[in-house]
Amino acid sequence: MAADCIFCKIIAKELSAKIIDEDQDCIVIEDITPKAPIHYLIIPKKHIDNLHDIKSEDTQLMGKLMLMAKKLGSKLPDPKAFGLIINNGEDAGQSVFHLHCHFLSGKRMTEL
Ligand code: AMP
Ligand code: ZN
Repeated sequence: MAADCIFCKIIAKELSAKIIDEDQDCIVIEDITPKAPIHYLIIPKKHIDNLHDIKSEDTQLMGKLMLMAKKLGSKLPDPKAFGLIINNGEDAGQSVFHLHCHFLSGKRMTEL
């Protein structure tokens, strides 16, 4: 757990959030300022600032985030379309420095 990290606090249940799913490796919450009708954050429980800091030992963890995205996608109404975004660094739009995937769905997103 990193000090002053809001996602670590949500994982530790010190801060509340709308939890969509959770397993031993990650938690899925609703984004507090949704950019799409469905906007979840898939967050590994291990604190990693962003993709610049992943190591080979995180390979399985990163795969588990993708499997969680698949699980969330399977529960969507047809056509089960969703986008995944990971922002890395302030200039890419990262505001919370605990790695997370934005899971976006519920509207037609044809541009990056
Ligand atoms: P990023 O800008 O890629 O770092 O994404 C951070 C996301 O976290 C933003 O979309 C915020 O709306 C969201 N966010 C920040 N604080 C909270 C919170 N307490 N609960 C849920 N989502 C949050
Ligand atoms: Zn953290």
